[in-house]
Amino acid sequence: MKTVETFDALQEALLRLKRPLGLVPTMGYLHKGHLSLVKRAKQDCASVVVSIFANPTQFAPGEDLENYPRDIDRDLGLLKGVGTNLVWIPSVKSMYPDDFQTWINVEGVSKPLEGRVRINHFRGVATIVSKLFNSVRPDKAYFGQKDAQQAVVIEQMNRDLNYPIEIVICPIIREPDGLAMSSRNSYLNERERHAALCLSRGLNTARDAFQKGEKHADKIREIVANVVNEEQLAELQYVSCAHPETLEELEGEIESCLLSMAVFIGRTRLIDNIVLLQPNT
Ligand code: AMP
Repeated sequence: MKTVETFDALQEALLRLKRPLGLVPTMGYLHKGHLSLVKRAKQDCASVVVSIFANPTQFAPGEDLENYPRDIDRDLGLLKGVGTNLVWIPSVKSMYPDDFQTWINVEGVSKPLEGRVRINHFRGVATIVSKLFNSVRPDKAYFGQKDAQQAVVIEQMNRDLNYPIEIVICPIIREPDGLAMSSRNSYLNERERHAALCLSRGLNTARDAFQKGEKHADKIREIVANVVNEEQLAELQYVSCAHPETLEELEGEIESCLLSMAVFIGRTRLIDNIVLLQPNT
């Protein structure tokens, strides 16, 4: 496994990699969720490139960029263990030089949900993913359903800008007790870690009700909110029952939806989601 930092070293190393080439973008502090993307890329592609870059432009002032967990040595060990061919760890200065002035703005699907509470977040995401695509020029790129809206935004950008890249969205990897794996779980103390189970519990309770015939969007949102609100350490930021592709909020009876939420557990902001589908759709 080779590790490169500069753009020129990346280009040189790419010349030696067999195609098809898979790209897995990450912000580091890797866990089994990230590794599941690399493993899937290894199945599909002759070579796999992983980028590690905590992208400052997708964090708002006051968010956790400065405290974002980092452990490059541990990350490299994990990536080697799953057969990664090349790791690219660019510097902030090289990605955003002082005269940087071009942004990618995916308009519609960036606006609701996370976009309403994290202003400019998806502008930062789309811009960095576009730069990664242009730099690595992969055949396939792998993202997690954990960041469901990010997946929709990137698929939209990929179509709109005619990238010749196949986007592959991989399922959410969870801890045995249901908590969706996230680098941010490392912020949680023991009490908070227990409280964080209210996210998956809320989604599962709503899924069970949906499967038993509850089809009303308002009711489904309310079921999630009630479970989260029962947890003292949790503060629900939003719960959304939205169209899985347009991300428009749904009203009335639904056939399918992306049920998603953001919850503060103490100072840690966690997101989680599930897609609800009628068995015959
Ligand atoms: P991040 O390092 O948080 O930017 O995540 C890098 C990629 O890993 C993104 O495509 C995420 O959606 C994906 N990812 C993060 N957590 C999980 C998880 N628990 N299961 C599957 N994919 C994940």
